[in-house]
Amino acid sequence: MRLFATALLCATALPLTALAQDTEAARVAALRDAALTDTIAWDITEGLTTEVGPRMAGTEAEARARAWSVAKLKAMGFANVRVEPFTMPVWERGEEKAEITAPFPQPLMLTALGNSGATPARGLTAEVLRFENVEALEAAPDSAVRGKIVYVTHKMTATQDGSQYGQFGAARRQGPSIASRKGAAAIIIRSIGTDYNRNPHTGVQSFAEGVKPIPAAALSIPDAEQLDRVFKRGKPVRIKLTLTPRQTGNHESGNVIAEVPGSDPNAGIVLVACHLDSWDQGTGAFDDAAGCGIVAAAAKHIMDAGQPRRTIRILWAGAEEVGIFGGDDYAKRHTGEPHAVAAESDFGADRIWQFSTSFDAVSKPVVDRLAAALAPLGIGRSAERAGGGADIGPIIRSDGVVAIDLSQDGTRYFDLHHTPNDTLDKIDLVQLRQNVAAWTAMLAITTAATEEMRASPRPN
Ligand SMILES: [Zn+2]
Repeated sequence: MRLFATALLCATALPLTALAQDTEAARVAALRDAALTDTIAWDITEGLTTEVGPRMAGTEAEARARAWSVAKLKAMGFANVRVEPFTMPVWERGEEKAEITAPFPQPLMLTALGNSGATPARGLTAEVLRFENVEALEAAPDSAVRGKIVYVTHKMTATQDGSQYGQFGAARRQGPSIASRKGAAAIIIRSIGTDYNRNPHTGVQSFAEGVKPIPAAALSIPDAEQLDRVFKRGKPVRIKLTLTPRQTGNHESGNVIAEVPGSDPNAGIVLVACHLDSWDQGTGAFDDAAGCGIVAAAAKHIMDAGQPRRTIRILWAGAEEVGIFGGDDYAKRHTGEPHAVAAESDFGADRIWQFSTSFDAVSKPVVDRLAAALAPLGIGRSAERAGGGADIGPIIRSDGVVAIDLSQDGTRYFDLHHTPNDTLDKIDLVQLRQNVAAWTAMLAITTAATEEMRASPRPN
């Protein structure tokens, strides 16, 4: 981290005289640089993970997180702080155990995937069939799979942009439904992760319409590789699996909203989002307390510098992890409102390394200003079209809202993602502050911009 701190120091020492020639650029730069000593994002991340802890959607813990958030955002001076409630189905983890019973008896570390079905309380024992990927599972004849425990592996590696999650995550997202359709007794997968801790990675999967829920779990990566070695010995492999999760029915969740009202009621809303819920095993520091800290800290810095032209709306969404229920509810309630721009922080708290937008060519001056303001933080401009993030996805799709992505370095994100290891100690203060500075610069520019901000046509 020391190297990075040095880079930041050098960056902020760039010739300010050149920037000062442009009053607007100087205003943005001053706000950005002041945010490099931010304490608010850390305070929120530390407070939420300590005073609430894990915040599984629809539980009493998530309700406490909403109450904590309302009190916090009010105390910070935001306006229109409120909860917008909704209900959603809640799945609860039970006992989770597995052991190889043949040919080499030994225990395995695993965890149930969201919405997993249950085994009998005494467990189920069956032969295991191994697949290199979901495509291989899909191609297998039903007769070969019926009654077996399916094991699906993958080859995900760590990348800065985290893009392999999309590709290899199919084992978790689609694997259980495919296995169930083929009559499998259960499915276990190699965790969708990149670390070698003996921590399995949970995550949501939803059985397709009409597909019977079967037990579905993820092995830690060391355990998956152990199982791979056992398979290489060429003998039939049997596993005893015990998972006792249950569906508990519909419960209340909700989005927490706060605003900085703008001076121009016709200028619209800049929406900044994160999600308040977390998985149940860690304290959800990286995913996504830090995101909530970052967006609220940036909004606070803008508010404290004087009333912005556009309204800033903070969305701390509920129930993201288990199916983006908060994002869907937000879109349902707020479709048709004048959203000028939307952005979300939900990829940890490591440094932002590039940004992208979905702006049309007509909005190029705004993008140029973003590029100039973000460059001193070591942030490059990507030609990719911004996607926007899970919780703002529904409003982007329904209303064609323009998105800005401030992309964090994801190299270690999938070491921690959805594991018990997602805890406060993983947050690096220098990098967290760089995030706040980038978000503050982005908000300073987009709340003030007088140019039209219009989305380019969606690619096919
Ligand atoms: Zn997240």
